[in-house]
Amino acid sequence: MTQPYNPAEIIRPEVLALKAYHVPPATGMIKLDAMENPYALPLSLQSEIAGFAGNVPINRYPDPNATDLKASLRKALAIPDTMDLMLGNGSDEIIQIIAMATARPNAVLLSVEPAFVMFRMIAIFANMGYVGVPLKTDFSLDLDALLSAIKQHKPAVIFLAYPNNPTGNLFDEKAILQIIQATPGIVVIDEAYHAFAGTSIIDKLEQYPNLLVMRTLSKLGLAGLRLGMLIGRPEWLSEFEKLRLPYNVSVMTQFITQTVLHHMDVLLKQAEQIRAERANMYAQLKSMDALEVFPSDANFILFRVNNASEIFQKLKQKMILIKNLDGTHALLDNCLRVTVGTPKENTQFLASLHAILSEKV
Ligand SMILES: *Cc1c(COP(=O)(O)O)cnc(C)c1O
Repeated sequence: MTQPYNPAEIIRPEVLALKAYHVPPATGMIKLDAMENPYALPLSLQSEIAGFAGNVPINRYPDPNATDLKASLRKALAIPDTMDLMLGNGSDEIIQIIAMATARPNAVLLSVEPAFVMFRMIAIFANMGYVGVPLKTDFSLDLDALLSAIKQHKPAVIFLAYPNNPTGNLFDEKAILQIIQATPGIVVIDEAYHAFAGTSIIDKLEQYPNLLVMRTLSKLGLAGLRLGMLIGRPEWLSEFEKLRLPYNVSVMTQFITQTVLHHMDVLLKQAEQIRAERANMYAQLKSMDALEVFPSDANFILFRVNNASEIFQKLKQKMILIKNLDGTHALLDNCLRVTVGTPKENTQFLASLHAILSEKV
């Protein structure tokens, strides 16, 4: 007779209470929900990749240290020589490694809200306490609230996305530096949207021993390859390296990324186009009635309408997929987030949105 196994007695209660991260189906849709780069690689680069892809030694494990790839990344991203570099299967994996490493009994991971949801999710995965300090209504940092939360909870780690997702804004650098100085633990600045922001905290690494900078190639155009990175002092990274699974970056990712990095200008030009389109989209959203649009330093734009869920559904019926943030946080009441796509996609989105908004009068 088989035993009556009960997952509820085996699985941790925090896990039982979780909902799996939901990715909506997007087949055939104009996909403006996930901050992907909408542009393909130029054909010449595609054929360069196709040319060697067949020869990649997929029967062998990848280089566990990704030595060549790291050298290319250091050059392409101007990573300071004095800092170490750790690679992850996306930056999501790096967040997880940092949480696992800092999850001493009663340790707290602190972030702001609304922020990237994985900060809170991963704190739960790692059995850490989570504290989310609300942003101000203009989505800026509430420095007083943050400093007092730091005093009260003594977080092991603070995560701040710069620019922030889902709000799109850059936080005040002086406020960030005050937080770094006030906290007893480490501060990870998540620069996933760096390519669209034109600023970075990376030059502060030398000065602040508890600062780490995280980057990813996902938003820059390589989301499918999954490559994130952490930049910081060897004292920290040598500890995190112990928790990194040895072959977390596949051979395909290592080879293809290196090739693409030799043509970094291609990705940077695409990012430039996205920035120009962002300005265009922002201006057009700004001109629409019954809509509040928030400034963005990322490759997406947050805006507020009177009836977010209805508009989201109507766009979906027109085969346009964006992100509905209504109900996810009090500050995001009736908010929608649209990723900047190609000019054609953006035009279709703006025309559909305009049509839906005018129906309502
Ligand atoms: C998209 C995103 C990431 C995740 O990036 P991956 O490298 O694809 O895992 C990390 N942080 C923020 C703030 C993001 O928006």
